[in-house]
Amino acid sequence: MHQAYSGAHLCETHFRESVERRVRRRIREDDLLPSTATPKDPETWVIGLSGGKDSTVLTHILAETFAEDPRVELVALSIHEGIEDYRDESLAAAEALVGDLDIHHETVTYEDEYGVQMDDVAAEDPLDMAPCAYCGVFRRDVLATYAEELGADKLLTGHNLDDEAETAMMNFLEGDVSQMAKHFDASLGAFPDRREEPSLVPRAKPLRDVPEKEVALYAHLFDIPSHIAECPHADRSFRGELQRVLRGLEENHPGTRHSILAGYEELASMAAERFRGESTPDLVPCEECGAPTTGTVCRTCQLLDAVS
Ligand code: SF4
Ligand code: ZN
Repeated sequence: MHQAYSGAHLCETHFRESVERRVRRRIREDDLLPSTATPKDPETWVIGLSGGKDSTVLTHILAETFAEDPRVELVALSIHEGIEDYRDESLAAAEALVGDLDIHHETVTYEDEYGVQMDDVAAEDPLDMAPCAYCGVFRRDVLATYAEELGADKLLTGHNLDDEAETAMMNFLEGDVSQMAKHFDASLGAFPDRREEPSLVPRAKPLRDVPEKEVALYAHLFDIPSHIAECPHADRSFRGELQRVLRGLEENHPGTRHSILAGYEELASMAAERFRGESTPDLVPCEECGAPTTGTVCRTCQLLDAVS
């Protein structure tokens, strides 16, 4: 394959090494494995495993990397949002993968957690928002709750370079500096005291140096069980537009995604610094579910009240 941004032409073996090296380097550079982790007191890393290529490739590489290293225990966490066909198929891929790798796997459903299915929420849409606006809140909540319940030291997700460059551009174009600071918190787990999430489990995205096309090629070449399809409720409007713009820019100016992300991370860290020490609203228990919130009723409960 030809990596236009680096000028390299890679054979299958070197391509594989190149992808895995970037993931391992990211783990080192983000300091994900502290020196306090030992075989007797290992780190638990919970991986958000949807069954799409990004999360399956990440899980596969992590399982290979730490197969002989008892300092890290991997747990895969899948969520069924109640999106018929689409999620059934991707969870089948997730199950095939964890069966091959022999790692602990938990699946949580919105139905069991909240008594809702995303297909119904999308059809009713009582607050006239995009389906992802509900789904994203529920997912963040489930991930945080179960990461804590599973004893996670880190919560890892399979965001790739394209996802991250799109998010960076979205935040930048929306001009929201505090959102950039939060993004820095969420991606690097820094300054966790500023986070308003129910859990303080730090997040990490070890695949974020690898472009989407390379993730797809890796999954294809090495037969990693993956489900390649888009959610029928995906709201691609703004993100989709940026995706097209970024693909065009990358084509004409290879390396654009890398420079967007490098610049963005620096800006986000400056933004996080700017807000550091600034008083944040006190967190109080939600009147309905007890989760920490800045208001009286948390966002999840507000949405659930609207949809039920
Ligand atoms: Fe949920 Fe939107 Fe993702 Fe579909 S695309 S799973 S609705 S967040
Ligand atoms: Zn609540």
